[in-house]
Formats: sequence, C-alpha cells, structure tokens
Amino acid sequence: MTTVPEYFGSMVFDDRIMKARLPENVYRSLRKTMEENAPLDLSVANAVASAMKDWAVEQGATHFTHWFQPMTGVTAEKHDSFISPAPDGRVIMEFSGKELIKGEPDASSFPSGGLRATFEARGYTAWDPTSYAFIKDNTLYIPTAFCSYGGEALDKKTPLLRSMEALNKQAMRVLRLLGDTETTCVRTSVGPEQEYYLVDRELYNKRKDLIYTGRTLFGARPPKGQELDDHYFGTIKPRVAAYMADLDQELWKLGILAKTEHNEVAPAQHELAPIYTTTNIATDHNQLTMEIMQKVAAKHGLVCLLHEKPFAGVNGSGKHNNWSMSTDTGVNLLSPGEKPYENTRFLLFLCAVIQAVDDYQDLLRLSVATAGNDHRLGANEAPPAVVSIFLGDELTAILKAIESGEDYTAAEGAQMKLGVHALPRFPKDTTDRNRTSPFAFTGNKFEFRMLGSSNSIACANMMLNSAVAESLRQYADRLEGAADAPAEVQHILKDVIARHKRIIFNGNGYDAAWLKEAATRGLSNLPTTPDCMPRLLDEKNVAMLTAHKVFSVAELKSRCEIMLENYCKTVEIEALTMVDMARKEILPAVEAFASATAESAGKKKAMQPDLALSYETGLVSKLSVLTDRIAAGTDDLEQAMLTLTHDDVTAESVAVRDEILPRMRSLRAAADEAELMTAESYWPFPTYGALLFGVR
Ligand code: ADP
Ligand code: MG
Repeated sequence: MTTVPEYFGSMVFDDRIMKARLPENVYRSLRKTMEENAPLDLSVANAVASAMKDWAVEQGATHFTHWFQPMTGVTAEKHDSFISPAPDGRVIMEFSGKELIKGEPDASSFPSGGLRATFEARGYTAWDPTSYAFIKDNTLYIPTAFCSYGGEALDKKTPLLRSMEALNKQAMRVLRLLGDTETTCVRTSVGPEQEYYLVDRELYNKRKDLIYTGRTLFGARPPKGQELDDHYFGTIKPRVAAYMADLDQELWKLGILAKTEHNEVAPAQHELAPIYTTTNIATDHNQLTMEIMQKVAAKHGLVCLLHEKPFAGVNGSGKHNNWSMSTDTGVNLLSPGEKPYENTRFLLFLCAVIQAVDDYQDLLRLSVATAGNDHRLGANEAPPAVVSIFLGDELTAILKAIESGEDYTAAEGAQMKLGVHALPRFPKDTTDRNRTSPFAFTGNKFEFRMLGSSNSIACANMMLNSAVAESLRQYADRLEGAADAPAEVQHILKDVIARHKRIIFNGNGYDAAWLKEAATRGLSNLPTTPDCMPRLLDEKNVAMLTAHKVFSVAELKSRCEIMLENYCKTVEIEALTMVDMARKEILPAVEAFASATAESAGKKKAMQPDLALSYETGLVSKLSVLTDRIAAGTDDLEQAMLTLTHDDVTAESVAVRDEILPRMRSLRAAADEAELMTAESYWPFPTYGALLFGVR
C-alpha cells in the first residue's frame, strides 16, 4: 500500500467491490434496496453473504460481527468465527444470508428503559444494507439495527433510518407538487466536525477521575490557559502530528473521508472534520472515528478525551453537525444559487427548516442532552441552551422582503481587497460567520452546534429530520389542496416567516442580553438535562414523532427513562469518584504536607526559640482550615448520595442536579484551593498544567 487513493476504502465492502464481486442481478437488487429502501430477499442476501465472506477471508478476516448502536452511546459487537466443521475433520469458512440478515445477541444487559423485562432476553440485530460492511481487527463488521422481541427499537440507528424515510417521503411530495418529475429520492447529508483532547497516557493513568469519568473532577487553574489564543490553528506538535497522520491512515482504510485537522482553542484540544456523506453513513463513521481516535492514541502513548468538559476553565469539546438535504439528481435543496430571492424551491426548504427548529426547539435541545454536555451549553464557549437560527444579513433581508411584500434588491457582490497587489482578489462572501449561534446557516447547509463531543450524532439528526419532515408535510398538504400552487407557495413562505421569525437571531449568542431577549420572544431555555428530557413526552412531540413513524409511544417513554437514568448514573459515579479521591488521595496529601511543615517548624523552634515562623504557622493553619472543609464537604456529599431515592428517575435527576452537583462544586473549590498551597511534590496526581501542556 503506497498512495492514499490505493488504500482508501481498502477495508470496505463498498460499491466498487460489490460491482466486481456480485452477480449483475444481485448487485442491481442490492442497489435498489440501498437507494430506494426496496425489500431484500433471501437469495440476494445469500449471494451477498457469500461474496462478503470470500472477500473478507482474502483480507485475513476470521470472524464476523453484527455491529450495533445500543442506547449506551457506544457501539456493541459480538464476534463469531466463520469456521464450520468439514466432513474430513477440518474446517471451512462459512457465512450465510441468514447470518448476514439477522443476529440474536442477548439483549438483557442493554438499557431498554422498561421496554423489555430482564427475563425477556431476546433482542435482534438486523443488517442495514445502506451502510457498507467493513473489516477491522480481522473481523467483518456488519452495520445493524437493534430491536427487541416485540420489534421496538433498542438502538439509535433504527429511529435515524425511520426519520430519513419520513423526510424523504415528505420532501418528495413537495418536490412533485413543485413540478419536479426527475428526483426519485431526497437524502440528508451530514459532515460532523469532531473536537477532542489529547493527554499523555502516563499522566492520565494517575488520575482516577479521568479513568472513571472521562473528566477532571479536581484541578486548580494553571497560570496559563487559553488566554493568548496561541493554540487555535497553531503549529501542530510532532507527537500530535504523528498521531493525526496515523489516525488519517486508519480512517481512510475504512473509507472515512477524514479531511481537515487542526488545533482547537484550548491547549491540548484538536479537531477532525470529515467530508460530508449520507446521514446514516456519517453516523456510523463518526462512531468509528471516535473509537479509532482512542485506539490510535493508545499506540502513541496518548489518551483521547471525548468528554464535553474534561477541564474546567478552558473550552469544552463539541461536535458541529453540518446538515443539508439533497436529491439523488445531485441538487442541494439548501443551496441558494445565484439569486436566492427567485429560488422558490430553496426558500420553501429553508422555511421548512426554520419552522422545524422553532416548533421543535425542545426536541433539538434534548437530542444533545447529557450530564457532560450540560457543563458546556451556556458556558461562555458553546452556544447557549436556547435554540435560535443564524441566517446572515442577506437571507434575513430576503425573508423580510417576502414577508412585507416589498421588492428585494440584492447586495452588490463585493471583491475582497487586501491592499497588496500581489495577493489574489476573490469575491467577498455576502455575510460574515457567526460562531455563537446554535444553528447557523453556512452557505448551503445548516450547522447545528449544540452537540457534545461524545454524543452520537444519530440523536440530533433523527429529531432534525423528523421536525423538517413535519414542516414539509404541512406544506405538501396545503399545496395539494391549492388551486394555484405557485401562489400558494408564496402564501406559505409569508405565513412561515411571520410565524417563525422569532427563532432567527443574527447577534451574539454568548451575550447575557440575548437570554433576556429570547425569553421575551417566548423561546424556550432549558439549561439542564432534567429540564429538557421530560419534554420528549410532551403531547405535541409524541404526536409528531409517532405520526411520522419515527418512534412508538413505548419507545419514547423508554428513551426518556434511559437518558435520565444515564444522567443520574453519570453524576453519581462522578460523586463517588470525588469522595474516593478526596479521602484517599487529597486529604492525606495535604495533611502530610501540613504535618511536614509543622514538624520542620518545631525543629526550627527547638534550634532557635525566638524565630517568628509566620510562614509555617500561617500555612499550617490555612491548610488545616482547608482539610476540615474538604473533609466536611466529602462527608456532606456522601450523605447526600445516601439520601437519593431511586424509585422515580425524573425526581432522581432533579435531586442529582440540585443536591449532588452543587456539593461536588463546593468540594472541588476547597480542594482546588488546597492544591494551590500544597508543595508540588506532595500533590497526589498530575495537575492541569501537566495534563494540558504535557504533550511535546
Ligand atoms: P465551513 O468552512 O463552513 O466550516 P466546510 O466546507 O469546511 O465549511 O465544511 C464544514 C463541514 O461541513 C465539513 O464536514 C463538510 O464536509 C460539511 N459540509 C459541506 N457541505 C455540506 C452539505 N451540503 N451537507 C452536509 N455537510 C456539508
Ligand atoms: Mg464549522
């Protein structure tokens, strides 16, 4: 393997391989399934399985696995080998269509939120032919959906696929009504930009908080953080560059379009962006990317932290979900073209998104809700927990003109002049960027920026697709009933703009004044997971999601429960880790340092009784006050944990937020203060300074 084009996708059973290895009729019916969701019969599956197996075995694979995305947020797999006994006492490698189509992992240990009692252990995985199989670690990975014995989705892929179908159906209705006879399907595409931290593995191994929770629960601020803005897009350190090169190679082999890599705002923070692809594949690829980031890090003596807020005081990590809709004929429906004002189709699809985001602010907010992301949303670095849309000046002016019925005069396309003749001139974009908006239009796509770095992008996209499908359904219904379709389109645009313009905000989303204004506009502000998650079961949300067959009522109830349970467990593990670290590491360390100081003061005093020893005395008394505070804070936190009731998960999540998290913060404050006064040689684990600046 030498050049990138030669090894790109070499571990993927992709279109090229399928075409080369499948009989013509099998290939055609598989493509039909992939493109038009046509049902697939067993004879096709058998032929595909056999070709897949032959190809995989040639690449050195010995096993296969149904790879799925349960509600844990990480992927799951159970490996089976291809071997089958042969009459001569040896083995042959076998893989049938049945094994390809269906698997049956024991489902009882995956979160089901009451969908399945533990004694009902059956769960099924079903092959998703729309995402390519691939080889990793000598195993053929088959992307699958995961459901219960009763057919309810237990995973993140199934509702995502359903939402893509819902959007396709409604978008096709609208396109037909607009006179489009060529398009046969509309797909959403996503390019998720992934942020992450890299820290030295040896340092990481010395911190229980990182090991158990993925984030630091203690740690005083180092003298330098991100104040100088010298890390963003800065030169990449050799060890990190070697990591990135290795990572690219691994991702490329799996057909993942890793494209852009750079340092992010905070020290030790980086970003990787792939080229966009169909949402379902982008989701699978993002899960794989996160996994491989961690695996490659281990090879380089590093650990990749995907937590949303691994360090207090410096930026957290998010994931920007670049999203758009396009036709199979290659038209991006969110592309404004040369004259957006006259581009009715664009304006209608744009309005569908605006309405969707306004009508389902709560669903978008809760689709990114986790204990980790709560630390980020609304902090001065990530979009607030209030959902709004940035459209930019030009589109905002166009919508205003449509609403008021006035003519729109396009802004002159200006040239960028840099004042140096040798530098090239290029057309200036008609609008600047806005980094603070949770949902920003960026030229021909929307960028949903509230996702946390560890979130599966499936959750955000299933809500986004469903909500947009709902707007489109309403437009299609109106257009179907209208005598004059072009006139009706104009009426729809006007109505939507008038009703939903409150969601458009082009200003600074980090500004406190915006939160006030958002409240007067009636936008919802749901700062924490316990605030937003129960909204999943609001009547309007249940009605919409069930109408488009993305979820059943039982599935929604189970998701809400699983997500709240996950929130509680996450925080509870953090609290227990803090208690453990405070008692077993921090208190003994501070105490040892105070004792040593007192002891040396005693020796000095014995030697020369008239010494003032104000440094030692002051230090020992301050440290004693702090150790008392830490000890009391630890007991208090532990006590609060004991009084938590676990009967009702909604009540528990509120108690976790209001009783546990504040106690964790105050325990941390005392410990961080002690850290600043304790000799470095006594401090029991690596400091922020070492973690953030330790990788050379
Ligand atoms: P920007 O300069 O706005 O960040 P980029 O071209 O760098 O835009 O794209 C950022 C991300 O958006 C990339 O992952 C890219 O592949 C993705 N992207 C670009 N066009 C689309 C599209 N039509 N649909 C979805 N994602 C897209
Ligand atoms: Mg971006």
